[in-house]
Amino acid sequence: MGVEFIYPEFEVVRNTDRCIACRVCERQCANEVHSYSEERGVMVSDETKCVDCQRCVSLCPTHALKIVKSDCSFRENANWQNDTIKEIYKQANSGGVLLSSMGNPKPLPVYWDKILINASQVTNPPIDPLREPMETQVFLGKKPSRIERSENGKIKCELPPQIALSLPVMFSAMSYGSISYNAHASLARAATELGILYNTGEGGLHEDFYKYGKNTVVQVASGRFGVHEDYLNAGAAIEIKMGQGAKPGIGGHLPGAKIVGDVSRTRMIPEGSDAISPAPHHDIYSIEDLRQLVFSLKEATRYQKPVIVKVAAVHNIAAIASGIARSGADVIAIDGFRGGTGAAPTRIRDNVGIPVELALAAVDKRLRDEGIRGNVSLVVGGSIRSAADVIKAVALGADACYIATAALLALGCHLCRTCQSGKCNWGIATQRPDLVKRLNPDIGSARLVNLMTAWRHEIMEIMGGMGINSIEALRGNRLMLRGVGLNEKELEILGISHAGE
Ligand code: SF4
Ligand code: SF4
Repeated sequence: MGVEFIYPEFEVVRNTDRCIACRVCERQCANEVHSYSEERGVMVSDETKCVDCQRCVSLCPTHALKIVKSDCSFRENANWQNDTIKEIYKQANSGGVLLSSMGNPKPLPVYWDKILINASQVTNPPIDPLREPMETQVFLGKKPSRIERSENGKIKCELPPQIALSLPVMFSAMSYGSISYNAHASLARAATELGILYNTGEGGLHEDFYKYGKNTVVQVASGRFGVHEDYLNAGAAIEIKMGQGAKPGIGGHLPGAKIVGDVSRTRMIPEGSDAISPAPHHDIYSIEDLRQLVFSLKEATRYQKPVIVKVAAVHNIAAIASGIARSGADVIAIDGFRGGTGAAPTRIRDNVGIPVELALAAVDKRLRDEGIRGNVSLVVGGSIRSAADVIKAVALGADACYIATAALLALGCHLCRTCQSGKCNWGIATQRPDLVKRLNPDIGSARLVNLMTAWRHEIMEIMGGMGINSIEALRGNRLMLRGVGLNEKELEILGISHAGE
């Protein structure tokens, strides 16, 4: 309604000396920014539609294009910043909730960057990972709190079902529907090759991907889309999604326009109907209710599958985790406030939840204090960006990390944060067949395998530098961490000393 008083956010800069009017940019841009003017005999641009996904820039054969952030700004005002003013205009125009995707882009503290890792010097020699054994394998699941013996004195070795990972990383939940078939195929194949797991998210499991079941976490979310006995039994583990870091406290909404063909069949809902996941699970209002669902899922899978309970990092996360650890769950996944999403209300994404670093430290401490740390493994996600973040998370108490945004970047995502439009030019967050085919699963899975192989080398190098030769010996080893520029309270919650101490 009315006029949008907004100058385009990005400007298309076309070097006319280099442009050969091949129209590649026109074909590559799903947002229809570029077109050829017959009248003028040149390429022209409608910059109002550009989301800075960089697809045209990457594929222009003569490097004639540049997308730059517009420097057209409102009059300087430290209180009313440009983005705030634009959002007011947008809402005044639409009357709607602002939607965004991917993670919180606000300049809030990233605690990983304020934590530094130790290295061995003189008295405890470092280990050379190229010449000496180094163990990156981890097992997730319930561990016995003490050694138990059978009647004839033999040690009982049987453990509840465990998830074996070749390195402490898994691909986090991204549903078929929010991401494309080829993105799922890339994740499933890479997880299989790497000996780790990927996660269906809440959209069910496409029939083509049952063969990757041993490397799949099948998710059960509040909408229960695509959940049936075969689905539960197909995966290596089952995840109950109670919350998500990008949008704690609210459900999900995949518009009917995206519920087409296979997506509708996999989710078991009619084509064109909106896929709405309620904010709560309507059968869970207490830890006792959660326990019922945990054991229903175990019952349905003959107690062969570990159950993960995923929650968003929120204010009282330690108490929540303590309850979950007593619910019969095998793994708790904590998703921090910088976690990605295919679509979330902007205000919620940017203002709700807490950093996963603080949540993890608080949960690990609470479970140890209560003597129930062995009841569950801890997996953390929400902007794990590198091998160093993984090392820091493990030293703070995590058994493994979930990554999603980093995996999408490996597939070609340029973080334009407009996944909710369904027009992802990189073939990732879209169901449009012409766009989906831009992502080749052979190349996608190879790039994911490369990324994880690189991280594994780095993890081994950093551990070697610390004189530590296994993830198990690093887990919860907070002596290996020091804070920089953190206040007393932050250091206390993280359970680490300041650098120099
Ligand atoms: S939306 Fe992407 S492909 Fe289209 S003009 Fe902008 S940067 Fe280029
Ligand atoms: S997945 Fe696609 S739409 Fe989403 S941020 Fe990445 S490039 Fe943009």
